[in-house]
Amino acid sequence: MRKGTLYVFTGPSGAGKGTLLSRLRAEDDRLFYSISATTRAPRPGETDGVQYYFLKKTDFERKIAQNAFLEYAKYVDNYYGTLEAPVNEKLAAGYDVVLEIEVQGAMQVHEKRPDAVMVFIAPPSFEELAARLRGRGTEDEEKVRKRLETAKQELKSMDRFDYVVTNDEVGRAVRELHGILAKRRT
Ligand code: 5GP
Repeated sequence: MRKGTLYVFTGPSGAGKGTLLSRLRAEDDRLFYSISATTRAPRPGETDGVQYYFLKKTDFERKIAQNAFLEYAKYVDNYYGTLEAPVNEKLAAGYDVVLEIEVQGAMQVHEKRPDAVMVFIAPPSFEELAARLRGRGTEDEEKVRKRLETAKQELKSMDRFDYVVTNDEVGRAVRELHGILAKRRT
């Protein structure tokens, strides 16, 4: 059986990765969307095992020691990581696997899996990113500021990716993502 393709979607918090990927996922049943582990607290409405596996710091660090992560990173004040076993299983079963992760983790995957398709989702502008992050209301002002500082660094890595998709309009950006997937499937 043909092995699946690994897709890495990255880009700063607030660029709209989640929105674009949930649309893509709803429209493409050959995609397996990896559920990350994190030490950050669940937001209202988030459930363990759905958006993330919410782990205590000690449990996350145990998994690091066990080499359970394909990649992991400290982002703002928390750990985030991709568990390797489910990704390998789904790829072997022929599914395309999607990781939605921040830039440091994306670069680790690029090193370990040079065949992974690397996609950077960019906001139309830094001002628009700040407005979206504040408008979302999921973080307090101090955390928003930290995310924006991180975003400045992340935006500098854009040219190291195979594709850069600007999320200026959701429908258009999703069509562009479908186009990227289609290229690999022909
Ligand atoms: P949030 O706290 O907004 O859910 O996520 C913060 C950032 O961590 C986002 O850029 C998100 O894409 C990233 N992220 C989520 N899961 C992972 C992961 O498994 N590994 C890495 N490196 N980043 C992740």
